[in-house]
Order: sequence, then structure tokens, then C-alpha cells
Amino acid sequence: MQGLYEVIAPLAALDLEQERLERTRDRAILARDQAIAGQRALEEQLARATAALEVHAEAQRALRRQLDRAQRSIDAARRALDYGGGGAEASIRQLDQNLALLDEHETHLLEGLEEEERLQAELAAARRALAEATEAVASARVPSAVLDAISAADAQRQTLLGHLSREYREHYLHLRPKGAFAKVLGAACGRCNSTITPQLLNELRKGELKSCRSCHRWLVVAEG
Ligand SMILES: [Zn+2]
Repeated sequence: MQGLYEVIAPLAALDLEQERLERTRDRAILARDQAIAGQRALEEQLARATAALEVHAEAQRALRRQLDRAQRSIDAARRALDYGGGGAEASIRQLDQNLALLDEHETHLLEGLEEEERLQAELAAARRALAEATEAVASARVPSAVLDAISAADAQRQTLLGHLSREYREHYLHLRPKGAFAKVLGAACGRCNSTITPQLLNELRKGELKSCRSCHRWLVVAEG
């Protein structure tokens, strides 16, 4: 029994500190995952904005082609009227129809320019948002100090376990996945909340190694 607590106490401190470090690490990983998800969503938004602008540009090109056709038709009708001859009525009808069409296409083209400006602004906003999100991902790293401290704790644990008897080591390793130690909080086990008797508390305060009767974790009494 001699020296046992000298191994168990640092092991308990190590485990509780490592759990704190692992929670910090997990929070950082979660924040990074969320930043990456945000970045992906913005990449998709940028792709949609780019596609919408391309569709719109194609529609505007088609309108310009229609406008050119109407203009050519107007020119042809005017030439026919200039040269005189038969079919003046048909030429005038062609002229009127195409002047109306030209007017209509020009209106649509102008409306299209406004829409293009709106889509360009959306695209620029999507690019800015994505740039910000990319920066957020780059800065959302798990701090290397935390990872180093976790590795250091693992190494230190191996050393401490080397000083334990097989029986205690096995008990420890059996409990370790869910936490081998529980802090005493008030008069209860800090993990499973079962009551700690005054007698058990006394024994713990004397520095004896005791387990929670319910969850079997080794109990640690807070200093002071
Ligand atoms: Zn317990």
C-alpha cells in the first residue's frame, strides 16, 4: 500500500486535466467542422450566383441577336421603300412590326442590364462571404499546445502506470474509457451523483484509496 497514493494522486490529477484538455480540443474540432460546413455552403452559393449570371448573360445575348434581326428587317424594309416599286404596303407593315419589336427588345435589354447589376452584386457579395469563411477555416485550428499537452499526458500516464501493481493497473484500465476518477462534490460522487457516507469521506480525507460504491471509480477529494 505504501506509495500507492503517490501514484494514484498524480494519475487522478493527470486524468482530470486531460479530460479538460480533450473537451477544449473537441470544442475546437467542432468549431472547425462548423467553419468548414459554412465555407461549403458559401461555395455552393457562389456557384449558384455564377450560374445565374451566366444564364442571364446568355438570355441577353439572345435578345441582342433578336434586336439585330429586327434592325436588319427595318433596314431592308426602308431600302425597299426607297427604291419604290410594288409591295410598298407589305414593306410598311414589315417596318411597323419590326420597329415595335425593336422597341420591345430594347426595353427588355435595359431591364436585363438592371438584373445583371443585381446578379453581379450578389456574386460579389458571395465572393466576399466566401473569402471571410475561408479565413475563418484557416484560423479555426485546434491549438497545437492543446494537442501537445494531450500527448504529453499520455506519455506521463504510461510512466505512472509502470509504478502500479497489476491489480490496480487493470482496475484503472478497465475504468479509464469512462474516466477512472470521480471528484467528490459535496457529499456525492461527482460522476454518478451517488451519496458518499461521512465515514467514506473521512477515510478519503486520511488519504486512503477508496472507490465510489455505485460507479466504482476512485474518489478524489478536492484539496483545501
Ligand atoms: Zn460514482
